[in-house]
Amino acid sequence: MFKVGLSGGIGCGKTTVSKLFTELNVPVVDADDIAHKLVKPGQPALLDIAKAFGNKVFNPDGSLSRQYLREIVFSDLQQKQKLEAILHPLVFASIQEKVNKLATPYCIVSIPLLFETHMSHLVDRILVIDCPVKIQIERVKRRDGLADARIQSIINSQVSREFRMAHADDVIDNSNTDGSGLAENVKKLHNLYLSISASLG
Ligand code: ATP
Repeated sequence: MFKVGLSGGIGCGKTTVSKLFTELNVPVVDADDIAHKLVKPGQPALLDIAKAFGNKVFNPDGSLSRQYLREIVFSDLQQKQKLEAILHPLVFASIQEKVNKLATPYCIVSIPLLFETHMSHLVDRILVIDCPVKIQIERVKRRDGLADARIQSIINSQVSREFRMAHADDVIDNSNTDGSGLAENVKKLHNLYLSISASLG
């Protein structure tokens, strides 16, 4: 199975582009979705996280307190690595398992933090969704109501736009405010990915 990794900074339009691939009947395996499901109450990963970080990781209803965990790992590299050591192998395995069940010529694997989490080796080609930081901030502010400084600190915690572009095989420019041209660009890449996967036999 030919796997195209889809990535991009916060608010660049990964979800928007994923939907366009879905409309072309291309399966999208979503790493964030997988990671969320892995830490649902009753899942072994949640218990491993509690063992590693203590029972304060639980909300009163038994779900994972993402906010608490985020605070612990945000400024402490060792704690961050401890969390990643629990989650990453499970995310890798789940992506692989889902991909193995597919029977289409290719699939999209959406990994927002593809570079930050060193998952590039999981995919055969990298598609980056790009827009200027100013537009990222505007869109996230409109969507989530976060303060500019908070959005900027998330952007600063991700690899730079330049780094992403330098490591992309394909780039979709999603800076047009009306999203015009996006579907056409996705269709062009769809045809390219179909022909690459056909050439691989
Ligand atoms: P995140 O990293 O936070 O998951 P994302 O990369 O998946 O974000 P989207 O959710 O697709 O980004 O887009 C961010 C916001 O910007 C959404 O509210 C979306 O509707 C809007 N948006 C995306 N593309 C465009 C566009 N071309 N023009 C205007 N608004 C857009």
